[in-house]
Amino acid sequence: MFKPTSLTYLIAHSRRRSIASCRHLGTLVIAEHEGGSLTASSLSSIEAAGKLLSKDSSLSLLLAGAGPTLQEAAAKAASCHPSVSQVLVADSDKFKNPLAEPWAKLVHLVQQKGEYSHIIAASNSFGKNILPRAAALLDVSPITDVIDISESNTFVRPIYAGNALSTIRYTGSDPCMLTVRSTSFPVGSTSADSKTNPVPIHQVDLSTFSEDWNSRHVKQTTQDSERPDLGSARVVITGGRALKSAENFKLIEKLAEKLGAAVGATRAAVDAGYVPNDLQVGQTGKIVAPELYMAFGVSGAIQHIAGMRDSKVIVAVNKDADAPIFQVADYGLVGDLFEIIPELLEKLPEKK
Ligand SMILES: Cc1cc2nc3c(=O)[nH]c(=O)nc-3n(C[C@H](O)[C@H](O)[C@H](O)COP(=O)(O)OP(=O)(O)OC[C@H]3O[C@@H](n4cnc5c(N)ncnc54)[C@H](O)[C@@H]3O)c2cc1C
Repeated sequence: MFKPTSLTYLIAHSRRRSIASCRHLGTLVIAEHEGGSLTASSLSSIEAAGKLLSKDSSLSLLLAGAGPTLQEAAAKAASCHPSVSQVLVADSDKFKNPLAEPWAKLVHLVQQKGEYSHIIAASNSFGKNILPRAAALLDVSPITDVIDISESNTFVRPIYAGNALSTIRYTGSDPCMLTVRSTSFPVGSTSADSKTNPVPIHQVDLSTFSEDWNSRHVKQTTQDSERPDLGSARVVITGGRALKSAENFKLIEKLAEKLGAAVGATRAAVDAGYVPNDLQVGQTGKIVAPELYMAFGVSGAIQHIAGMRDSKVIVAVNKDADAPIFQVADYGLVGDLFEIIPELLEKLPEKK
């Protein structure tokens, strides 16, 4: 299987107090919640934060939103992981929607009070929306897409669409702000199911929080689907341009249904309007690393590979024996997907 090479070593220069000179390491994880529970990507961010912990360090979770589901999520977060030392809750209508401005201001406010050495968010649309703006307010350079944490100031991130890995030593001022790839920090046995004693939950004092931003949330549309979330699914079935139409793409959806899998798509399939863009896998889409990734009619462009190369087993079906996808596939089948998928559907047992 293709492996990226380790290439560069970058240094960010310091103007103020640096991580290296910091005595107390305190990490703040900006956590997302849904339906009264922390999301899978937030649990992965907590795993990543765990790599920064030492004897004297602490780990705080920041949850914001409004209403009972927030309080429910906070209660669960308080016993979600043995490393967590406190949960901070900002309960206000201002945080009902994932609008970057109020959230960034909240992170700024919490940092002023807590003086954390590190602030971590997931490298998803939520984290990537908020963290850079919060970093600008705090006057630091964020490090994005971290896939490994070697030391409290040394991080690995992919570059050139994942063809090389760069190791970055952060020598900037506190806080060191990171977005982390969930697929690189799988949730361990110590987190999701562990029963630890609940840690304290503190309400964030919002009395000094000013409401001076110009954007407003218009609406959020989500696809109601019983399929697993693409970012955390164990099996992903992806279709490419070769499907030719939204109608034909239903073949991929039927197969995904039978296998209890999430559906993915290439950018070409998304651009052609076969499926919505939240299904795009790749450099400018979602990064996935399922147990099984099946690609049908996908050529294997570098930008697509960047989003799925860490999958444990890759199966590719393409009628072109020279398609680049076969270079990363563990199992390849040269053939016509319009014959192979119906055959698979016929032979696979009905989902119970
Ligand atoms: C800045 C940038 C960012 C990008 N980001 C992404 C990204 O995030 N994700 C992404 O996917 N792409 C991304 N792209 C686009 C990428 O370069 C490719 O254009 C795209 O991935 C190609 O999609 P595809 O494999 O579906 O289509 P194609 O490249 O057209 O491949 C179709 C494949 O289907 C095969 N085929 C045709 N008919 C059949 C059949 N009946 N049965 C079996 N096989 C068949 C063909 O042999 C071919 O290999 C990005 C490009 C740029 C420039």
